[in-house]
Amino acid sequence: MRRPVARNLSGLAVAAVMVTVGAAAPPSSTTGATGTPPKVPLAVGYGGAVSSVDADASAAGIEVLRRGGNAVDAAVATAAALGVTEPYSAGVGGGGYFVYYDAKTRQVHTIDGRETAPLTADSGLFLENGKPLAFGDAVTSGLSVGTPGTPATWQTALDTWGSERLGSVLRPAQKLARDGFTVDPTFRSQTEGNQARFKDFPDSAKLFLPGGALPVVGSTFKNPDLARTYEELGRDGVGAIYRGDIGDDIVRTVNKPPVDPASGRVARPGKLSVEDLKAYGTKLQAPTKTSYRGLGVYSMAPSSSGGTTVGEALNILGRTDLSKATQEQYLHRYIEASRIAFADRGRWVGDPAFEDVPAKDLLSQRFADSRACLIKDDAVLTSPLAPGDPRHPGACGKPGDKAAPTTFEGENTTHLTVADKWGNVVAYTLTIESTGGSGITVPGRGFLLNNELTDFSFAPANPAVHDPNLPGPGKRPRSSISPTIVLDRHNQPVVALGSPGGATIITTVLQTLTGFVDRGLPLVDAIAAPRASQRNAAATELEPGLWNSPLRSDLEKIGHVFKQNPEIGAATGVQRLKNGEWLAAAEKVRRGGGSAMVVTPAPGD
Ligand code: GLU
Repeated sequence: MRRPVARNLSGLAVAAVMVTVGAAAPPSSTTGATGTPPKVPLAVGYGGAVSSVDADASAAGIEVLRRGGNAVDAAVATAAALGVTEPYSAGVGGGGYFVYYDAKTRQVHTIDGRETAPLTADSGLFLENGKPLAFGDAVTSGLSVGTPGTPATWQTALDTWGSERLGSVLRPAQKLARDGFTVDPTFRSQTEGNQARFKDFPDSAKLFLPGGALPVVGSTFKNPDLARTYEELGRDGVGAIYRGDIGDDIVRTVNKPPVDPASGRVARPGKLSVEDLKAYGTKLQAPTKTSYRGLGVYSMAPSSSGGTTVGEALNILGRTDLSKATQEQYLHRYIEASRIAFADRGRWVGDPAFEDVPAKDLLSQRFADSRACLIKDDAVLTSPLAPGDPRHPGACGKPGDKAAPTTFEGENTTHLTVADKWGNVVAYTLTIESTGGSGITVPGRGFLLNNELTDFSFAPANPAVHDPNLPGPGKRPRSSISPTIVLDRHNQPVVALGSPGGATIITTVLQTLTGFVDRGLPLVDAIAAPRASQRNAAATELEPGLWNSPLRSDLEKIGHVFKQNPEIGAATGVQRLKNGEWLAAAEKVRRGGGSAMVVTPAPGD
């Protein structure tokens, strides 16, 4: 959807093989003589693979793989390019979670690069006169800005597993920011959705509303400030953010949001300090592991709820044969397993540095069995469903605590998946939370600040139940991010995937995985399949493909309640084929279609 201008990513010749497109959006045409390929949702070949939402970003990763970089180098290059072309979803002002499979040791490692609350924050961060702030007021404020984790994630990943320096993997993105990319309808419409608040912040307006107007589709969008920021990070290291001049600018901006006084907008200040930036650290931690149909499913442990919630639902579903179920039975069981897993997530998952999170127990088969038995073939559970007690799995139907509905979370970010020729794999989801984050651009630096702290509960959803996701000093808000790598019984990769979408990330990953593993769908079709999302709410969300299908009334007959959601998630994935061949898959239609690429279509090219 976002076509590169002629000068970008010099000399790139990337193989993108369209094997099947189905209902795909028409691929964008190749522009200029650079050979940057059209955007396609499926590519098969050798030398490694990259899948992201954006052709420029996938091409940046392929460029790094082609010159001998590994999957980690390519993932950082792709992420940095997404910071240019998807600035409303990701960037150095945000955070994320990085999952890495090491082909030599056949082990999975993760980095928690989540944003953190200021050291001065307490549970009342989003209360004013004892009442929760309106969500929108909290989003567009300094209060919602957490210490960014993305720069530190890139540095940690490169230091630990990479083969190139930060400066060299940032170069393709730097060039893209300097020379520009071609504005597409998605970029314009996301800008439009932010126009009202961007125009109240002169630095956001100057960057994203050039000449006071929306960027024109087909025009070239440049971000020289971001090019300079990347150049500085490449030269001086990420210390420029955590202990240096870029960090000083971040702190100044959060503490006094640069709002136009004439706009009348109240942009509440935050209390982020240089001490917060200095204190920030990524966490290298063990992944969650769930055994499913003889495979090992590895994902993010808390502070993300992704791994435990997808894992619990898989453990519940593992008790039934989904391959033989009808489509109606499959969807029913998937919806109910999601409902149950979300009930438990809400009660038990928060930042483990602050909360006693029973991650291991949430993933025990014994606990899953005590929950799976709640599911009936001909009836639907009532939400909000009460959580179980994973430490003391009770008899079936005896939930351990009072129910609390799932609190509101925003829905936008981006996911990329990379594999290299050595067999290393990265699944990496990065975010600035809402589309456009806090709406506040750091003056002269070319990036938006996140509003990740609005992922905290503003107040307990049910005052009678402990909420592990209230704000606290230096605490990480609970995430739903679920970058997932699946290994076979020899600990070789089978598939890796992930998605944006706030709390719907969990259901998207679960549905895509079961579509691929149980329903026999090719990865690109498992990604394209119309989605349902149940998160312990009265109504299950359905995309139009299911809403308009006879399956809806079949499911309503046994008690399901639905509402429409026009679009859920934007997944990407890679699949290992035989003899060093990889398949990269992305969305056919959602968000204008994604971009799957491989280094070369034929072995030995
Ligand atoms: N802030 C969300 C989370 O961490 C991600 C936002 C999104 O995916 O849209 O769960």
